[in-house]
Amino acid sequence: MPITAVIFDLDDTLMPEHPADYAALESTAGALPEGASIAPLEFRRVALDAAHTHWDGTPAQAYARTVSTSSLEMLWSPDDRSTPGLALLTEFGPGFRESVWRAVAVAAGADPVHTWRTLDERYRHERDIRHRPYDDAIPALEKARGEYRLGLLTNGVPKVQRYKASAAGLLDYFDEVLVSGDLELRKPDPRLFELLLERLGANADSTVLVGDRSATDIAGANAAGIRSIQIRRPDNKHQMDGDIIPDAIITSLEELSKYLQ
Ligand SMILES: [Mg+2]
Repeated sequence: MPITAVIFDLDDTLMPEHPADYAALESTAGALPEGASIAPLEFRRVALDAAHTHWDGTPAQAYARTVSTSSLEMLWSPDDRSTPGLALLTEFGPGFRESVWRAVAVAAGADPVHTWRTLDERYRHERDIRHRPYDDAIPALEKARGEYRLGLLTNGVPKVQRYKASAAGLLDYFDEVLVSGDLELRKPDPRLFELLLERLGANADSTVLVGDRSATDIAGANAAGIRSIQIRRPDNKHQMDGDIIPDAIITSLEELSKYLQ
């Protein structure tokens, strides 16, 4: 069957997620007041700990699991009240951010009352300027556009995922975009893959999926009968989950075209 459609994952496939989170946290350390500084790596560790502490066991976390968003995303994500679950996350956000940044300020020896807002604003800025594509993403999409129907299938909060893809200059390449939170499902649920195929007007056996995570992208594509290509980028430590076997493995999107014949 000749390939007629290509489905891409977003985070850590077309644009870096965890490397961008970490770099933004480390840069935020520079916003601490004089005399209160801790090393950027320690700042990052403290902030990650605080985010997990104030996230674990909350109703927001319970909901977030259903659409697959994270505590770190809650530190910068835009408001979205389009469903009751997303409204719950949006309500949770401001108090969560204040708690996290107050805890970080205390750990750094700064006055939490005067410092938390500075850290909050700085982190949002530092994270916002890091919505960038990998160098090979735009060339690969340019090459595929026009020749194949292109779909984006990503887990997370719809507004967040669309914002990131748009800020990185990726969104307009896709004929169809499906975010797990639109349906309150998440990859690897094959219903997401099947719905996207339907919207693309494509069949499973003439479609290829490209994604980084075994447990979500590869498992879901395999279950839906779509050929799966796993991208294992050198800077991505999160892609290996279990014994799920992709049809092919690449390390750069430059290798993609040879699998689209
Ligand atoms: Mg991914």
